[in-house]
Amino acid sequence: MAFDLITVSDRRHSSLQKGFNLRWPLGNLQGQSSPNGANLIYLCRSPQDIMDAAAQALALPHGRITVRSGGHCYEGFVANKMPDSPDEVLSILDISALDRVVYDASGQIGSELSPTQPFRYRFRLEAGSQIWDSYSALYKQANKTLPAGSCYSVGLGGHICGGGYGLLSRKYGLVCDWLSGVDMLVPDSHGKGLEPRHVSRDSTQQDELDLFAACCGAGGWSIRHYHQLLLQGPAASAQRGAVAGDGMGLVSTDPGGTKQSAGGLPAMVCQPSEQPGHLGPGDQTGNAPRAHRQYHPGHPLCGQGG
Ligand SMILES: Cc1cc2nc3c(=O)[nH]c(=O)nc-3n(C[C@H](O)[C@H](O)[C@H](O)COP(=O)(O)OP(=O)(O)OC[C@H]3O[C@@H](n4cnc5c(N)ncnc54)[C@H](O)[C@@H]3O)c2cc1C
Repeated sequence: MAFDLITVSDRRHSSLQKGFNLRWPLGNLQGQSSPNGANLIYLCRSPQDIMDAAAQALALPHGRITVRSGGHCYEGFVANKMPDSPDEVLSILDISALDRVVYDASGQIGSELSPTQPFRYRFRLEAGSQIWDSYSALYKQANKTLPAGSCYSVGLGGHICGGGYGLLSRKYGLVCDWLSGVDMLVPDSHGKGLEPRHVSRDSTQQDELDLFAACCGAGGWSIRHYHQLLLQGPAASAQRGAVAGDGMGLVSTDPGGTKQSAGGLPAMVCQPSEQPGHLGPGDQTGNAPRAHRQYHPGHPLCGQGG
């Protein structure tokens, strides 16, 4: 086992029980572990670590797991035991060490978890990466950015699957609009562990499309365990002379990026309505997108947009 297991006898336990919101776990006192918080914290460094940790934690009597990327959950979803479950043995799978940003200009990055899947990408961002580090890496490696949030230490894992809104969002949409595919770990059929899946906006299976849609704003749930978020760069929206671009030093002005707008744009399962293949917020005035997504009757994410 390559993960580090933090138990209550470890001096770091009380600190690692907590995230950004120090209201949690309930009864939090500085320097003390709370009985309402996690019994165990698994510090994972790889997808295999996550699967091993989950299997071990779920094998415990009354074992339950939550996942933590950046630790910025406002609520107590990660840190708190379920109410009225005094016997629960809560384990946090902390995946903040999975923080790589990988770029391949030729767009040949495949799924690590499901290598036989045909989908290929130019960027892979791991869910533990904090958005400040992601911005820096994207800018230095590829002269690109994302319309993600403004709090530098938010983690991609909770941020992207919750939508993600930031300084550039009036113009370029939510960060989840730029998501192309996700390597994820889902509960296995026995409920005793996790198994890998890769889902893409180009998936052909309905359950994969549904899983992908759930990553595009449905929120970070502790029953889902993504370890990587695979994004294609903001090529088409990286328009030259973009309003805030050079001022922030982050928006790409790479003219080559615009060449990929027709087919290379990452999008949700629901395509934007006004300009197929374009995310919508593309004019140079800085106006918000008029219609974010096309309405698809019966689709879980539709009916709210427009
Ligand atoms: C100070 C502060 C500033 C913020 N600023 C912004 C902002 O500018 N724009 C904005 O849109 N939002 C902002 N947020 C909200 C933030 O995007 C969400 O709270 C987000 O869920 C945090 O993600 P995290 O990974 O850091 O948190 P975590 O506490 O690690 O996780 C949050 C939730 O996501 C789940 N989760 C975490 N990682 C994964 C994963 N890999 N796979 C599946 N589920 C996962 C957790 O189980 C939990 O339910 C801010 C929050 C804070 C505390």
